[in-house]
Amino acid sequence: MISPSRDDVLGGGSPTHRWTNVMPHIWSISIHDATPRCLPQLRRLFDCVMDIPVTCRSVAIVPNWDLQWDVRAHPDFIEFMKELETGGWELVLHGYSHSHPKRTPIYNRIFRVRQGWEFYGLNYAESTTLLTKGLQAFREAFASEPKGFVAPNWHLSPEGERALRDLGFSYTTYMNRIENFDTGSLYIPAVWFGIGKRPMVNRINRAIQKRRWRKPYRLVLHPGDRLSFDGTNLRVDLHSRL
Ligand SMILES: [Zn+2]
Repeated sequence: MISPSRDDVLGGGSPTHRWTNVMPHIWSISIHDATPRCLPQLRRLFDCVMDIPVTCRSVAIVPNWDLQWDVRAHPDFIEFMKELETGGWELVLHGYSHSHPKRTPIYNRIFRVRQGWEFYGLNYAESTTLLTKGLQAFREAFASEPKGFVAPNWHLSPEGERALRDLGFSYTTYMNRIENFDTGSLYIPAVWFGIGKRPMVNRINRAIQKRRWRKPYRLVLHPGDRLSFDGTNLRVDLHSRL
């Protein structure tokens, strides 16, 4: 919950009033890269954003981050995700390991593949295999069926999207739009913050996000954003990062 100290910073009033002033065009919020690896950071992050008034809220879960963090082996993580689900957060599938399956030094150099592009360039069969593994882990951990899928870094090929449809998913999201398999495309961009030590990339990214901030957008946050959410400088921080 929002702490009294943050209420002071944001000017008090109802949660809706506070957030409307800070982010007037926010439409949805999604926390990406949810894995047992970063459970403490996730708890803090959710604590900060819990009462932002939005149309949709979701958690993008990686079932087996880097093939080392299988959610099924972490009951405390599962319990936290189920609490969020009960509280109205939709649990969606976010890749399987978040790492590209063809990741080798030579392949990366030739195709310029970066960490996190798990579904980048995969064909139908490869996509189906990974999605099936992700679905199996998701079902066993959370005893529920994800309706949505978000590819790591939003890199999903047309073949990958076809695999999603055939496996019964309802929608996926890209950086600029939501693709609902029943109703079609909804163009509403994601606003997210650069993470990692890539100053030039992050600077360019900030310039792009700043333009998106002025119209309806989907706010996407990562566990790596946690350091800026210390409960006292949220509004200043969000603005300063754009
Ligand atoms: Zn991700």
